[in-house]
Amino acid sequence: MLRSKFICGFSALALLMGAGAAQARSVPADKAAIDAQLNTFYPHLDALYKDIHAHPELGFQETETAKKLAAEMRALGFTVTEHIAGTGIVAIYKNGPGPTVMVRTEMDALPMEEKTGLSYASHVIATWNGKQTPVDHACGHDIHMAAWVGTAQALLAMKSKWHGTLMFIGQPAEETTGGARGMIADGVFTKFPKPDVGFALHVGPAAYGEVTYRPGVNSSNSDSLEILFKGRGGHGSTPSITIDPVIEAARFTMDVQTVVSREKDPAAFGVITIGAIQSGNAGNIIPDTALLRGTIRSYDGGVRAKLLDGIRRTASAVAAMAGAPAPDVDLVVGGRAVINDEAITAKTAAVFKAAFGTKASVQPTPGPQSEDYSEFIIAGVPSLFFGIGGYDPAKIAEAAAKGQVLAANHSPYFAPVPEPTIRNGVEAMTLAVLNAIAP
Ligand SMILES: [Zn+2]
Ligand SMILES: [Zn+2]
Repeated sequence: MLRSKFICGFSALALLMGAGAAQARSVPADKAAIDAQLNTFYPHLDALYKDIHAHPELGFQETETAKKLAAEMRALGFTVTEHIAGTGIVAIYKNGPGPTVMVRTEMDALPMEEKTGLSYASHVIATWNGKQTPVDHACGHDIHMAAWVGTAQALLAMKSKWHGTLMFIGQPAEETTGGARGMIADGVFTKFPKPDVGFALHVGPAAYGEVTYRPGVNSSNSDSLEILFKGRGGHGSTPSITIDPVIEAARFTMDVQTVVSREKDPAAFGVITIGAIQSGNAGNIIPDTALLRGTIRSYDGGVRAKLLDGIRRTASAVAAMAGAPAPDVDLVVGGRAVINDEAITAKTAAVFKAAFGTKASVQPTPGPQSEDYSEFIIAGVPSLFFGIGGYDPAKIAEAAAKGQVLAANHSPYFAPVPEPTIRNGVEAMTLAVLNAIAP
């Protein structure tokens, strides 16, 4: 629901007109004006994108990325505050009385090796959890950053068309789901204006030009697990005088899947994935411990509780079966489901349809991925989090004909095409903001 501040005065008419307001504005004219800006500004965005892509930084380490974004926004005329929750930035532009509209980008990359072979591929190595790791913008947050800067540029070039305050935020550490909470704890909505409405976008493996949105539940709850199974190490030839934690880890990895298949309602979404098993260094040594890391996804609170309880029970039972000490089970609450505001989604969807026709569509089901943008919504910023495609439709069709799918987010081969993906992101985001902020 929109807050009363937004309803009073300047924006009451636009809100009451709801989706009809989109037709009152000339969306094609607005889109043409954005495209005219992009014709000049796109090469700059392309270079910025490739620079950020080649120099990715991990969560809460986005020092150079934040500096680049801060410099871009200052050059455009924004007032920029840095070091919110460490590396976060807030860029404000006031253009008379009116609503405050937030546009958020994430800045972090992932601890994994890029295998795209692109000329601007990352070769960066960084320290993560005490170890050296390659770093890759494999989730497309670099696309988001370029589109964020492009949106800011287009809106300022069109500032005679709107009145209000733009609040562009660059958020650290989305992937580890600590960045949004960190910015809120560091006063992003108390030291700065609290936004009346917020927007964020995410690129995915759909065709470029496509824009998807979903009223209500948009993405999943995401929790993480870390379990340390404790055994008793010894020689690989004498397992009978040891307690083998590798067997505990293997048994848990298999058995925990029955929590999903046998305990949860089969019609309800729920996933448990063990993404890391770390134990031992040599083939002839039974190690002392085995460490598992995983992720737990759900939409519904009841399903979530059932999965968390099943994980605890399975871990304890597996250790008991092995005659091992009780394991250390650490279940960390992560990102909560993104719930899009129904009214803002409907109002923005009308504009997307006017601008992109059939390429703008409702996402039929919530995504299994998760997003800590939900923290801003829970903190009271009614929002729309929408999706854009990043791949050549011909390549998608070609892959489909061979029974294949193109690499998606978090794949080392994920490679959205910069142009026109960034252009589409700028068009969609600028139109969404204009629709929310224009009188
Ligand atoms: Zn991601
Ligand atoms: Zn992401």
